[in-house]
Amino acid sequence: MKTLVFGGTFNPPHIGHTVICRAAAEHIGAERVIIMPTYIPPHKSVEGSLAAGEHRINMCRLAFEDIPGVCVSNAELRRGGKSYTFDTLTDLHRLYPDDDIYFLCGADMFLSLHTWYRAESLPQLATFCVVPRDGGAAELREYERSHEFVRGRCIIIDIPPVDASSTEVRESIHSGKKSASVSDAVSEYIAKNGLYR
Ligand code: ATP
Repeated sequence: MKTLVFGGTFNPPHIGHTVICRAAAEHIGAERVIIMPTYIPPHKSVEGSLAAGEHRINMCRLAFEDIPGVCVSNAELRRGGKSYTFDTLTDLHRLYPDDDIYFLCGADMFLSLHTWYRAESLPQLATFCVVPRDGGAAELREYERSHEFVRGRCIIIDIPPVDASSTEVRESIHSGKKSASVSDAVSEYIAKNGLYR
């Protein structure tokens, strides 16, 4: 089975996340899509702005529900500590030994792949599906060309960048505005639970 794993903070999930997830799932013909909210993201400072794991799980269920074969996993939240992709992919191989595993990430994360925990092993555990964010596909191809450990182990999906970020959503809500980057269902969930005020 082709399994696409999409890890992120999802604080909250927005249209950038759903657009790239759908594009990647269609591109590879994913039969299973696992959305994996992180417990503690190793690569960013969240300084008190991180909604509880349970809220992020619930928002992911609302945001991604239309994607065929999707499920939202609490594995990283249950594991606790820093959420290393290496550990997550290793566990998924144990759980689904016959699957082809793909890992989706945006350009900003991919361009720092060499700094991730056990980076050299990651492309052996999953094929990376990468989408542009602020720049184009050329910088992603250049990264692949100049980093041998990932060469031939990533798929660059050249879709138009989506201008959305969780930071922008949190800032809008904090200043009393609604954000156009989240779905109505996620927006209602945020309001009902008083998140990001
Ligand atoms: P924040 O603004 O809080 O830093 P974020 O918007 O980057 O958050 P994350 O949940 O940290 O969201 O991102 C999870 C993954 O989704 C990362 O691989 C990131 O690169 C990717 N991603 C998020 N938004 C976009 C977007 N608009 N276009 C492409 N990739 C994206």
